[in-house]
Amino acid sequence: MTQIPFIDLAAQQARIRDAVDAGIARVLDHGRYIMGPEVAEAETRLAEFSGATHCVTVSSGTDALLAPLMAMGIGAGDAVFVPTFTFTASAEVIVLLGASPVFVDVDPDSFNISVADLKHQIAKVRAEGTLNPRLVMAVDLFGLPADYDALAALCSEEGIELLADAAQSYGGQSGNRRVGSLAPVTATSFFPAKPLGCYGDGGAVLTDDGDLAAALESIRQHGKGVDKYDNDRIGLNARFDTIQAAVILAKLDIFAEEIDLRQAVARRYNAGLAGIVETPAVPDGLVSAWAQYTIKTDRREALADGLKAQGIPTAIYYPKPMHLQPAYARFGDGPGSQPVSEKLCDTVISLPMHPYLDAKTQDRICATIRDILG
Ligand SMILES: *Cc1c(COP(=O)(O)O)cnc(C)c1O
Repeated sequence: MTQIPFIDLAAQQARIRDAVDAGIARVLDHGRYIMGPEVAEAETRLAEFSGATHCVTVSSGTDALLAPLMAMGIGAGDAVFVPTFTFTASAEVIVLLGASPVFVDVDPDSFNISVADLKHQIAKVRAEGTLNPRLVMAVDLFGLPADYDALAALCSEEGIELLADAAQSYGGQSGNRRVGSLAPVTATSFFPAKPLGCYGDGGAVLTDDGDLAAALESIRQHGKGVDKYDNDRIGLNARFDTIQAAVILAKLDIFAEEIDLRQAVARRYNAGLAGIVETPAVPDGLVSAWAQYTIKTDRREALADGLKAQGIPTAIYYPKPMHLQPAYARFGDGPGSQPVSEKLCDTVISLPMHPYLDAKTQDRICATIRDILG
């Protein structure tokens, strides 16, 4: 029995190893480890790829969320609407700035923020009158873009800003527009396991707003002004390392092809698992970056154990919604308040997903799932 990797970064590295080695060697030769030329080059390529005017790289996906919130002046007394079914970082940056996360339930099929519940939560905050509704942070969970047309319409009606947490969805698409140009501000992550990962931490903010981009460039370098030692604002040390930029440049060369390969893997799973588990639904016109391939089953534990025994790893993203996490419970309304997310946390399970998952291995995974649940 061969052990199957959950994400096969080694197969990818074998393809690009020479380019990565050469890119890192160039950085070692020129020695500009901080803000070297590869950083600007990566920003140009990332902006071009996604169709955004500006790309400002930062040191992680978390900083890609934190820095725009700082630039917008989000703080005490502000309400930021965020799905409760997400990774911690989305909610964390809100609390770090002294603002209040208002948790929103998700759609059971897309896993993304429910526009209906968002309307409800905004109305509730307005009625209570203690917090100022400032920002909606949508999350493109598992790689699928949220419904930005509906979100943008609602946000403009309500006078609220809109930011995309696209940590999992870089490479995704809505119509002919790519992630990075679907929302006014988009944050993404280059954590190694994300669809476009480097070999360490990294992230980027994409936007058409030149003033915001300038503020982000300042914030990532301690709030610098025109001169490095002018301090215009409170900032961070949140630059993207030159060596990581060299890695991203090598990976960008094969990224579009990898996104296509992920579609083929998802299609094979959909076909192999139809009628046995609930497979993920992609609405018409959207393309997922397939950071995760996540199914729903009421027999999750038996499935995970049975697959593990056959050398097939699974993962649960996420076992607990934000509003039930000890660190965030004070911002929520307790068990039962976000029923869709709570149910998903009990029923979702993610299968091995990466561009290099071959048909034979996938057949084995699907057959094993059919044996366990059939
Ligand atoms: C990974 C992730 C982040 C944070 O990215 P890092 O690069 O790990 O800081 C934020 N939001 C979501 C939804 C994520 O999946």
